[in-house]
Amino acid sequence: MSAQVDRRRKAERIRTLLETEGETVQENVAHLNQGRYDAMERFDDFEALRTAAREIKAEAIENLPTLIETLRESVESNGGTLYLADDAADANRYISEVAASKNAETLVKSKSMTTEEIEVNAALADVGVEVWETDLGEFVLQVADESPSHLIGPSLHKSREDVAELFNQVFDPEEPFETAEELTTFARDYLGERIREADIGMTGANFVLADSGTITLVTNEGNARKSAVTPDTHIAVTGVEKIVPGVEELHPFVELISKSATGQDISQYVTMLTPPVDSPTIDFERPDEPLGSGDGEREFHLVLIDNGRMAMRDDEQLRETLYCIRCGACANSCGNFQHVGGHAFGGETYTGGIATGWETGIEGPDAASEFNDLCTGCSRCVNACPVKIDIPWINTVVRDRLNRETAPSELSFLVEGLTPDAEGSLSAPKRFFGNFETLAKLGSATAPVSNWLVDLAPVRTLMDRYLGVAPQRELPTFQRDTLTDWFESRRPRLPNADADRTVVLYPDTYTNYVHTERGKAAVRTLEALGAHVELATPIESGRAPLSQGMIATATAQADAVATDLDPYLAAEFDLVVIEPSDLAMFRREYRKLLDEDDYERISEHSYDVMEYVYGLLSNGASTEPLASPDAPVAYHSHCQQRTLGVDSYTEAVLDELGFDVVTSDVECCGMAGSFGYKSEYYELSMDVGEALHDQFTDAGDRTLVASGTSCTEQLTELFARDATHPVELVAPDGRT
Ligand code: SF4
Repeated sequence: MSAQVDRRRKAERIRTLLETEGETVQENVAHLNQGRYDAMERFDDFEALRTAAREIKAEAIENLPTLIETLRESVESNGGTLYLADDAADANRYISEVAASKNAETLVKSKSMTTEEIEVNAALADVGVEVWETDLGEFVLQVADESPSHLIGPSLHKSREDVAELFNQVFDPEEPFETAEELTTFARDYLGERIREADIGMTGANFVLADSGTITLVTNEGNARKSAVTPDTHIAVTGVEKIVPGVEELHPFVELISKSATGQDISQYVTMLTPPVDSPTIDFERPDEPLGSGDGEREFHLVLIDNGRMAMRDDEQLRETLYCIRCGACANSCGNFQHVGGHAFGGETYTGGIATGWETGIEGPDAASEFNDLCTGCSRCVNACPVKIDIPWINTVVRDRLNRETAPSELSFLVEGLTPDAEGSLSAPKRFFGNFETLAKLGSATAPVSNWLVDLAPVRTLMDRYLGVAPQRELPTFQRDTLTDWFESRRPRLPNADADRTVVLYPDTYTNYVHTERGKAAVRTLEALGAHVELATPIESGRAPLSQGMIATATAQADAVATDLDPYLAAEFDLVVIEPSDLAMFRREYRKLLDEDDYERISEHSYDVMEYVYGLLSNGASTEPLASPDAPVAYHSHCQQRTLGVDSYTEAVLDELGFDVVTSDVECCGMAGSFGYKSEYYELSMDVGEALHDQFTDAGDRTLVASGTSCTEQLTELFARDATHPVELVAPDGRT
């Protein structure tokens, strides 16, 4: 399949899902997010418990082989059996043998992604065991013969109306089902009967305590405990990573999981079972038999699944995936997931941002290739994750591994020389988007011809076909006179000796070659507030290649930036950054790319430009030289600013200067760097942007303001008028 045909296929699949499932996914995810935000506001200990949970997980994974043996002893001394399954086939063979030994005909199951992973239902069907899903969402999918679209809400893509239509068609009730109550009452009664008849109950386990063999089930429907204790045989299937040492270590997870997943302070049912349980068995076919007449017949099997997890443990980059408690918050906080759902943003089993880690660990990187690019690296999931997994980094690492498997296309010569080729073979689009700096230099040096050329229809057709650049998008307009040219043609207005602060301004690629006005505005503003400003060398921060998974190229660029900044930072300059995605490189991603000292120095001294302006004003600088409001403002902050917690400074400065500001609260504008420029993702990008458009519908003629380049471009396209950077709004009038 040619690359262009493959892009069209992807675009078509996304278009179909946006039309069929997008609206319901958006509605249901918005509900989960609102619950999460509210829960976090009530929850003072979130950060402290996240730290504790991460430490517990890190230690438990480190000590996993020992914990497995401790758990084995506990389970066996309780009278159960622990089976450590190498892979899905091994687990299914063992489970089938248990079923055969019990002459089982039916098995009821509670929700468990691990059993989805090993496809136990199909394996049991092959040996003649009928399986019933007892979680309502899983039951809906079983009836519909569909796969889950979300870690905690498997049928999140279905509305109540969809479920009513399905149940009416399949179960043909006397009175058609309509309300949620009618549907749930039917399901409860129907599944209650299946549970009473079942020979075996199967559950997953959210957490397993090594020292006691206790399994913890966190649910909202109560079906898991019914499935576990009604039949006399209980099989719990769970990944090895679910083991924690004991009940003390359980506490943070019980606090965190429901708040992160659904926004509940605690789930309806937190069940702790130490099987085989000693509650009496009931023979529903012989109601006259006294309770407990089958006592002593209970069996318990704990099937611990490896299936690639021990190898993930040995993989430095994938290891943190094993800390995941499967709350789904990363999916919910993701702008793309909110619109397209897990049937696009997910693999065979797992969905959302962390799916890349799981699918790669279990099946290999190819299993993530179809959806990995849907992670734009916006990082909104990072603060949502209750165990602080760096989900964007896992996505980047897998993207890098996938790049290295790609055979160079016959068209690679078109963009040959654009990158140092540190990655080996790369597709032409990856090279193109990953090396915007080279293009920007070329475009600027040859402007305005370059701008005229790339606007020609035949050129855009070729760019779509060979480079995957969406023909609908306006391309950046390169400036012949760069910010550096402008800066060098003037002397710093405020000599160092007279300044209150010394600043080195980082001229990111967009500011230097495209949006030079915002760079000039930043210089004028900082000088007006008493800072001596110097300009660093315009070197790409590494953001563009990193977004394409080109880690080696990004590392080389980060090294070059660090070398350039070194004398400034040694002289105690503050590093001011205009583009939020570059600030995020300095404060977050450079931790992975640079040595510790360089990272610490750069991250500690770097500031968002409006954060810095806020700091200068707070330390006594006068607002007098800055611009006064001439129009009300509609402001959209950048995803990375919100993750870094610096978004509020812009609002605070605008507020202090008397601007009338409305702000958006959507997770992402949909553009996300180069993502929205890609042919296959253009429609998704615009669909995500529509939420931002809706929020500013009443904005009237407010000045559109955004902190990030890509947000600015998306706003310009959504509203067909220009958007500006906040520093241009507050800069002193006049040009220097
Ligand atoms: S990666 Fe974090 S946020 Fe995502 S499902 Fe796992 S625990 Fe939840």
